[in-house]
Amino acid sequence: MSATDLGLVWNNTFTAELPADPVEGAALRQVQDAAFSRVMPTPVSSPELISYSPELAQRLGISLETLKSTAMVEALAGNRILLGMDPYAMNYGGHQFGNWAGQLGDGRAIALGELKAPDGTLHMLQLKGAGPTPYSRRADGRAVLRSSVREFLCSEAMHFLGVPTTRALSLVSTGDRVVRDMFYDGNAAPEPGSIVCRVAPSFIRFGTFELPSSRGQHETLAALADYTIRHHFSHLKGAAQPDRDTYVAFFTDVCRSTARLMVEWMRVGFVHGVMNTDNLSIHGITIDYGPYGWLEDFDPGWTPNTTDAHMKRYQYGNQPGIAQWNLIRLANALFPLVEDPVPLQEALDEFANVFTHGHRASWGRKLGLTGLTEADDPLFDDLGVALQAAETDMTIFYRNLANVDLRALDPAQIPAELMEAYYQPEQLTPTVISQITGWLERYAARVGLEISGDQRRKKLMDSANPKYVLRNYIAQLAIDGAAEGDYSVLEDVFDLLRKPYDDQPGREKWAERRPEWARSRPGCSMLSCSS
Ligand code: AMP
Ligand code: MG
Repeated sequence: MSATDLGLVWNNTFTAELPADPVEGAALRQVQDAAFSRVMPTPVSSPELISYSPELAQRLGISLETLKSTAMVEALAGNRILLGMDPYAMNYGGHQFGNWAGQLGDGRAIALGELKAPDGTLHMLQLKGAGPTPYSRRADGRAVLRSSVREFLCSEAMHFLGVPTTRALSLVSTGDRVVRDMFYDGNAAPEPGSIVCRVAPSFIRFGTFELPSSRGQHETLAALADYTIRHHFSHLKGAAQPDRDTYVAFFTDVCRSTARLMVEWMRVGFVHGVMNTDNLSIHGITIDYGPYGWLEDFDPGWTPNTTDAHMKRYQYGNQPGIAQWNLIRLANALFPLVEDPVPLQEALDEFANVFTHGHRASWGRKLGLTGLTEADDPLFDDLGVALQAAETDMTIFYRNLANVDLRALDPAQIPAELMEAYYQPEQLTPTVISQITGWLERYAARVGLEISGDQRRKKLMDSANPKYVLRNYIAQLAIDGAAEGDYSVLEDVFDLLRKPYDDQPGREKWAERRPEWARSRPGCSMLSCSS
């Protein structure tokens, strides 16, 4: 029986089994032939626990008493290293906005170790904003409160939406100020600093494989692939001693899970904002919440990221295509282990296949339809067109569509339930109205083919169309409060987002259209990468 701190048991397979950087500490450097560098978090002035996820704590076997204890809060701020932790920053590279960027690595994230949960599974705990690492480049290794609140809330919101994601255990304020130029306009200002403790099976990214591969360091590449397969893809044939077929099976798995993730993002209207290859997880989970956003008015060309405002590379409608582009980068990185392009190409075809079928089934659920075939695709495509004919709130439209009486459609009038989705009713000219009601009639005809009744249709739709999502302005209101030391909105919203598919009487205001004041306010419409 090993000694433990706070009753927590750690089993650090990543640092035990993978090649380490021989140098320790945070001095900036290019790190060759190593998966990680050992580095300690830099202590902060006065850590305080702002918020935490009780559900995740329970899953990890951390009692609330332990979580709130001084020792644990210090650990979650990087001020105390618990017995059994082995802190490090991961080495990885990545393609940023389409260009190879070389070594990136964890510049402000420090992994603490792998915590053993009561069910025996291992969970990597990682502090984001814990201070400089060898990969911090010119930055400070810290995170500001506004970006930490956004990461904390959205990670948990995504979990409760049923979208695969890294989790967030805690949000801690540091008592220190962090200087940021929020608008990149030369007006840098101090902001409150904070740290989120993120949790995932691992934080291995596409870029983790790209870096050693780009350097021709094939032994390190193989060590990383073998480790990943052994621990995280152990269901694959030959996982204990991977060969070419195992590497292909691993890549195929990543293609499939990434496709399923894209289906989910599209379903809920999530726009990641920075789909660089260093921000895509090999687990097919959402990772690295930065300038993300939620579609309000349905515009496939929308990106929340100001850095991407011109290229719009990461706009909502591009996400599945970008995911595939990123997978091609991963295929290239793994090529030295497989040495045959054919099976890798077949795996990429599998991405398209899984996405196409998954997406069709997903929008079928959103419309309460089953047994969809390719012949149904035009119905969905034309809905996309109709939703863009006037500024339409995606979440409200889908959610309220389940309540429309399809037997009482009027070709000259949009049903009252759907009127709630329109931002600018004056855009609803007779032509636009007939476009929308024309689509509703086709939809009603298709629904008429279903044997299930209206009740079942509504149930199916309500389970696929959230009533509450973390609208950009809602996150901003939580941030505004938190910046003043008032966490009531944050807690209220966190609670709300635990049951995103339920009607929650008394909380309707959070399901309404984005208020007009938020249309152009920073943080509510556009977000910079500065965080
Ligand atoms: P991102 O695309 O935002 O996930 O970050 C790209 C790279 O920049 C990663 O290597 C990050 O660790 C690094 N980075 C971002 N912000 C900071 C910061 N404040 N200090 C150090 N490194 C950072
Ligand atoms: Mg990142």
